[in-house]
Amino acid sequence: MKASQFFISTLKEAPADAEIASHKLMMRAGLIRKLGAGLYNYMPMGLRVIRKVEAIIRDELNKAGCVELVMPVVQPAELWQETGRFEKMGDELLRFKDRHDRDFVIQPTAEEVITDIARQELRSYRALPKNFYQIQTKFRDERRPRFGIMRGREFTMKDAYSFDRDVEAAGKSYDAMYAAYTRIFERLGLQFRAVAADTGAIGGDRSHEFQVIADTGEDAIVYCPTSDYAANIELAEAVSLLAERAAAAEACEKVATPGKSTCADVAALLGLPLSRTVKSLVLATDETNEAGEIVKSTVWLLLVRGDHDLNEVKAGKLQLADGSGLKAGFRFATEKEIVAHFGCKPGYLGPIGLKQPVKVIADRTVANMADWVCGANEEGFHIRGVNWGRDLPEPDLVADIRNVVEGDPSPDGQGVLAIQRGIEVGHVFYLGTKYSKAMDATFLDVDGKPKHFEMGCYGIGVTRILGAAIEQRHDERGILWPDAIAPFTVVICPVGYDRSDDVKQAADRLYADLVADGVDVILDDRGERPGAMFADWELIGVPHRVVLGDKGLKEGLAEYQGRGDAAATKVPVAELLATLR
Ligand code: ATP
Ligand code: MG
Ligand code: MG
Ligand code: MG
Repeated sequence: MKASQFFISTLKEAPADAEIASHKLMMRAGLIRKLGAGLYNYMPMGLRVIRKVEAIIRDELNKAGCVELVMPVVQPAELWQETGRFEKMGDELLRFKDRHDRDFVIQPTAEEVITDIARQELRSYRALPKNFYQIQTKFRDERRPRFGIMRGREFTMKDAYSFDRDVEAAGKSYDAMYAAYTRIFERLGLQFRAVAADTGAIGGDRSHEFQVIADTGEDAIVYCPTSDYAANIELAEAVSLLAERAAAAEACEKVATPGKSTCADVAALLGLPLSRTVKSLVLATDETNEAGEIVKSTVWLLLVRGDHDLNEVKAGKLQLADGSGLKAGFRFATEKEIVAHFGCKPGYLGPIGLKQPVKVIADRTVANMADWVCGANEEGFHIRGVNWGRDLPEPDLVADIRNVVEGDPSPDGQGVLAIQRGIEVGHVFYLGTKYSKAMDATFLDVDGKPKHFEMGCYGIGVTRILGAAIEQRHDERGILWPDAIAPFTVVICPVGYDRSDDVKQAADRLYADLVADGVDVILDDRGERPGAMFADWELIGVPHRVVLGDKGLKEGLAEYQGRGDAAATKVPVAELLATLR
């Protein structure tokens, strides 16, 4: 590629809304341009990186036996109604109507559509196992789109879905994907950690996130440096959410019934700093008259420490810090009550914007509340993740990601816990028969009987990877791309390309040789002054730079500098090819 033919658009300053290094650098290097909140144009320089990331993902998935297909961005609502997610999903799901007044969604993920394909196409056990994947545009109407394409509303995801005969086979598919992900992130040249993640209603230990280690990550990972233990506690988002909640609850205190009723109050009662993980649960109490009729019900939102046994809480055995304890007689709140108290849509209760003072007893860590909606029906109260259909556990099933601080013993007993921040770039998840049962997707097993598919789903944030890589690898001058995903691997910077025949000839020859060798090289033939030219390529982050100038060429020398090197080294022009190959 020649720079004059390509499109290079660098900026001296980052726009004001760019908060973190990766967002600033992606804008300054001209990789992306903003179109609207959470909406970005992938500019030619950025698209080259995206394509390289995609190529690595494709290569490893194909090697692991996955098959690529593409499902429409626009999906009919009917399938989503079959699983109930059309109603349940909350505001992240973008719904719209066509000219015939039919409901549609823009896919945030594709479990429904792939399950529909499977029930039509995978008729027999002989067709299994099968793992379909796509690299496709997604849309999620994120509550807070930010950090450029790291948390966009429209973004590119690789999503894969496995179909198996039984639990054992599904476990093998899961392990194969875990291994493929490990190879993918190794090849991408990123420092990462696979951590245990919430498995929601499905339970078990079959959910892992792949986290790129970076101080600006939105997730917090607890890990044990002396063992394999690692888990996500999604601390950062939770802390800010908890603060928002507390503020919202506090604002209503004026209209509150007397008592220690706000989240903040309850947290204080429990001696619980807001930055610690806690659990919550929505319950109700009733006041009855002499005839035993309920005259008044109060909905309570109560926070408890993450390490309390929820059954004890429900049984009223929990002692608060002031010794008051919880009265027996709590019950789950009904949907009607919750709607009335929280001013939310039936079936949904957003995590923020509490209009009423409430007491909370928790069923999961607040650290994981970041993305959930609550709802209740006549049978009782449910909390569901909007984590794309993975129902959260019933209170009793809460997993072991709890109220941890640095230095706590690790759950595997192999050392103490440390905390670091990460960016979730991938997620592997065992789904069981959740979707196949909801959509009655079956195959005929060897005994001739229909059986529900055992499923798994596996996501990678293709476009988020760019941000994560830059967060991890940059300096004050710009990006330091790993070779594998750099927009160009080598840049030739001729000094005086438009003035000196020697320089032009040497640059053109080197360029032609590298192209012939299959090296991804760009020749900067724009005739820029050296300072501006070097600054551009350092900002863009091309890993290898060759400078050719009249003076050096007289001695048969070029200057080579790796993007991470402190200084350039002189290399005989004749040896350049071997150095860069
Ligand atoms: P997060 O916790 O960051 O909101 P998620 O758990 O909701 O992510 P998944 O449903 O697991 O996301 O989707 C698979 C992958 O898609 C994630 O691991 C992440 O890399 C990517 N992803 C999710 N949401 C976004 C987004 N808004 N912008 C860019 N990438 C995203
Ligand atoms: Mg999310
Ligand atoms: Mg997540
Ligand atoms: Mg996830």
